[in-house]
Amino acid sequence: MDEVAAVAGQLLSSSEAEWAGVTADILAQTQQVPAISKVNGKYICARCGGVVPTSSQRLPSGVVYCGACIALGRISSDMMLWQFPQPHYAPAALQMSWHGQLTPQQVSVADELIATYQTGGERLLWAVTGAGKTEMLFPLLEQALAAGTRVAIVSPRIDVILELAPRIAAAFADVPLAVRYGGSGPQAVGQLLLATVHQLLRFKKTFGLIIVDEVDAFPYAADPVLERAVRSASCGARIFLTATPSASLLARSKRGQLAISYLPRRFHGFPLPLPQVIVDASVTKLSARARGIISRVIRQCARTLIFVPAVEQLRPLQLALAKLNITAETVYSAEPLRKERVQRLRQGEVNVLISTTILERGVTFPNCGVIVLQADAPLFATSALVQMAGRAGRAKEHPADPVYFLCRNYNLAIAGALRQIKQMNRRRA
Ligand SMILES: [Zn+2]
Repeated sequence: MDEVAAVAGQLLSSSEAEWAGVTADILAQTQQVPAISKVNGKYICARCGGVVPTSSQRLPSGVVYCGACIALGRISSDMMLWQFPQPHYAPAALQMSWHGQLTPQQVSVADELIATYQTGGERLLWAVTGAGKTEMLFPLLEQALAAGTRVAIVSPRIDVILELAPRIAAAFADVPLAVRYGGSGPQAVGQLLLATVHQLLRFKKTFGLIIVDEVDAFPYAADPVLERAVRSASCGARIFLTATPSASLLARSKRGQLAISYLPRRFHGFPLPLPQVIVDASVTKLSARARGIISRVIRQCARTLIFVPAVEQLRPLQLALAKLNITAETVYSAEPLRKERVQRLRQGEVNVLISTTILERGVTFPNCGVIVLQADAPLFATSALVQMAGRAGRAKEHPADPVYFLCRNYNLAIAGALRQIKQMNRRRA
């Protein structure tokens, strides 16, 4: 890929362009726009489209900067950004390297996704955990990539991106895949991008197909900047995927503003494991009952995920388990070794992983029991509980892995999760 193709469609600062290796010759032919411009008395950020509150986001020199997209590097009113032209990819025969078989239900969803891609517009795919969302995307991706369309698959969650990367790369071995998240800079991006949502802020009207996986996950749901990022990077169809759509997404669909595909059935056809709720008054340490449940699940399953609401609970629980001769590792969002530890669970080098909600979605491990401690914690909304429970029973050889919710009080979020799971199981036939 030459340096122009690598930055095509992107809006970059001079230092980003330099980092990406763009030469002065190319810059001389590239359009520039003010990073922040004054429109009707308001300062608007060219990158994220946000209004800059000038009272708080002003540097000592008097220039204003945008705080909303500062995670990508600070841009201010004294800067210009380079707007690189859109790339062109010619249609080309494409050999998909995935040769799996979709179920008839998956095929009809895949067809609906393709229809939305062809006509443009937006569609929500509401599919239960373990429905095989990623595989359902493959026929769509094959068609779009072969047509020369530029495709972005994005998610609010880094862990979802890390999980998807090897699967997408394996299915489309012929198409170079750029993976960007967190602090990764504006390195080469070709026809296919896999990234966290906020990386889209660097692209304007670039992607003919954008797929947003786990669309309801924090922080996409709470951050209007990310929603704008998806819209402004798009020049075609947008597809949203989730097992637990937010009330606002469902309301848009009810109003007829968002087409919806619904798949209440796991790919293997077995029902979702129904969590067993254990009301247990002890909170300060693991009760005998909790210890019994944990030991039983660990004996029964090749892997066990134990969820806790707070980072501070990881280490004490790990020590408590060590006293029972149970070796467990821990992960949370800022853990530098999280990728390696998840990988160790996958490969069976460790059997028990204690996690915050970062692993509630997007990850698949065969034969995995799930225990949620303090399931009645305010942080655990119904969607989080459904997602955590959805880590169990995903392999067709082990469809009925156990799921336990331990709580002091049976609350509305827990009741909502059980209701939703039962409802999906009834509709799956
Ligand atoms: Zn901004």
